[in-house]
Amino acid sequence: METSVKDQIKKLVEIQKLDGEIYDLNKEIKEKPLLIDELKEQFETTKAHLNQLEAEAKAVLVARKDFELELQSKEDAIAKSNADLSQIKTNKEYTAKVNEIESIKADKSQTEEKILKSYDQVDKINVDIDKEKVVVGEREKEYLSKKKEIEDEIKVLQDRVQVLDGQRKQIAPDIDPPLLAQYEKLLQHKEGRAIVAVHGTSCGGCYMNVMQQSLNLIKMHTEVVRCDYCSRMLYIEDDL
Ligand SMILES: [Zn+2]
Repeated sequence: METSVKDQIKKLVEIQKLDGEIYDLNKEIKEKPLLIDELKEQFETTKAHLNQLEAEAKAVLVARKDFELELQSKEDAIAKSNADLSQIKTNKEYTAKVNEIESIKADKSQTEEKILKSYDQVDKINVDIDKEKVVVGEREKEYLSKKKEIEDEIKVLQDRVQVLDGQRKQIAPDIDPPLLAQYEKLLQHKEGRAIVAVHGTSCGGCYMNVMQQSLNLIKMHTEVVRCDYCSRMLYIEDDL
């Protein structure tokens, strides 16, 4: 390929404009899904709260079942003791049995209270559940629409990368392959910036000082000059 160093630098600067944008876009494309993950996590937290309330309500219902069985067995015990009363011969035994029945009745009324209380508890939890369901519904809608929005944004970025890739394919063949390979290696390792302009006397990539000797070499256009500190290829804007 018979082109001057100056022309090669020009082409590299041209392709760098595209590659810089491609690099930034790809970074954004990689980062955006993290935002979706974050929103998803927030939504899952809201949903977990609802699940917890539902579990609480269920636990109260399970406990109530036990109280109801307990109540039934106390009613049975009372019925049995009442039946026993007719068989009793002595006053002493009779009084003892009556006391026993009274004691079971007292227990029974405590169990009844627990059952009534469980109805209140479930009512209260259900109010919370209904409220939380509305919140979860809203959050889900928000999450899904935000997710869609971000996915659409990613699609736009990907389309743009494709366009830029197409443009870069037009320029790449004009660059000497070994030089292009060096440039592409730098692109990967130097945050998408392989060739940078010198501003005054400082490297546009790492902002370190570029020595006068290097500046002179750049202006001579006999070779591609690299920054002593960051190894990026250098050019002078007004010089091209
Ligand atoms: Zn540098």
